Amino acid sequence: MATVKVDLSGLDAYWIKACKRAVTDLNVLFKKSDINVVLALGSSTGPTITVTTDSTISGTAVHGRTAATTSDSGQLQSAEVKLPVEVRINTPGGLRGAGLGVLEVIAAHEFVHALGQVKHNSHLMAQTWTKLSGDTPAGDKLQEGGLSMPPLALAPESVEKLKAIWG
Ligand SMILES: [Zn+2]
Repeated sequence: MATVKVDLSGLDAYWIKACKRAVTDLNVLFKKSDINVVLALGSSTGPTITVTTDSTISGTAVHGRTAATTSDSGQLQSAEVKLPVEVRINTPGGLRGAGLGVLEVIAAHEFVHALGQVKHNSHLMAQTWTKLSGDTPAGDKLQEGGLSMPPLALAPESVEKLKAIWG
């Protein structure tokens, strides 16, 4: 079982909870799907995903940016995940900050990029989502192909891709 560190030390409080939740929920999905990689918080030796924010990423686009260095077999050596400073969502009452669930989906999407899935497909790794605002931020969802997240869901093709990389 490979362990990949997720270094959140460069993030402020706004993203910490969402990133921790993404780590926890992705680990559950990986285990359930027999994908042999575990995300662990902290940084030391070994492959590490370093997460920071980047003010050039639009706050109304629900995505981040990931650059990963991988071995010939596609295994992660190191990755830099950049997240928007703040995510905003349109509601009938105007633009407001997106809920924790939306932040979790964005972070988890970038973590899967970091783990080796380059191309977009569907579910968590969709290219674009429809933003669904809840009555409160806690109810905000990202929707694609009739599926609303959270909860996180990996497409079968993503499971196959990650299994091919991580065993
Ligand atoms: Zn993406």
